[in-house]
Amino acid sequence: MPHTIAAAVRTIADFPEPGIQFKDITPILADAALLRRAVNGLAEPWKGHGITKVIGIESRGFILGAMLADELGAGFIPVRKQGKLPFTTIRESYELEYGTDTIEMHIDAVSDRDMVLIHDDVIATGGTAAATHRLARFAGAEVAGFSFLIELGFLDGRSRLPADAAFHALLTY
Ligand code: AMP
Repeated sequence: MPHTIAAAVRTIADFPEPGIQFKDITPILADAALLRRAVNGLAEPWKGHGITKVIGIESRGFILGAMLADELGAGFIPVRKQGKLPFTTIRESYELEYGTDTIEMHIDAVSDRDMVLIHDDVIATGGTAAATHRLARFAGAEVAGFSFLIELGFLDGRSRLPADAAFHALLTY
């Protein structure tokens, strides 16, 4: 078993399409010690920031996002692809290489009483995280920042995020 979080990330070439180097985090999730270290490392920079809710992005952002929320003493909010959430939603669309995608959040998930942290496992182009930020702001919440396990630095997704929100990634490629 690998002993570091970085060594446990498994890169799968050409998944789910040719040209994508997919970062598979399941070996981290499967190892109790690495999972604990990942959650501690993700939570550390945000302690004392008054985070009331962690917003996790479908679907891999739900796993560590919920654990991060628990570690920070915050609630957890799922942002999902269109059509998956049962109650009334607000939605945002964002550009993909070909076409657009739409994400949704429950209308009452966050409010102007919340200080939120947005989490996903990987930031690639940053389009999904930026759209999630717009949803949180539309609902009236303050956004303390963005949290990722992995940043694909060569795609510079960070530059698509609002500059006034803090940014933390545990690993950068
Ligand atoms: P983005 O381009 O930042 O909007 O990423 C879109 C979604 O796809 C996010 O939820 C990322 O976590 C995921 N994603 C994009 N590229 C990769 C990759 N190379 N490995 C794993 N997940 C990825």
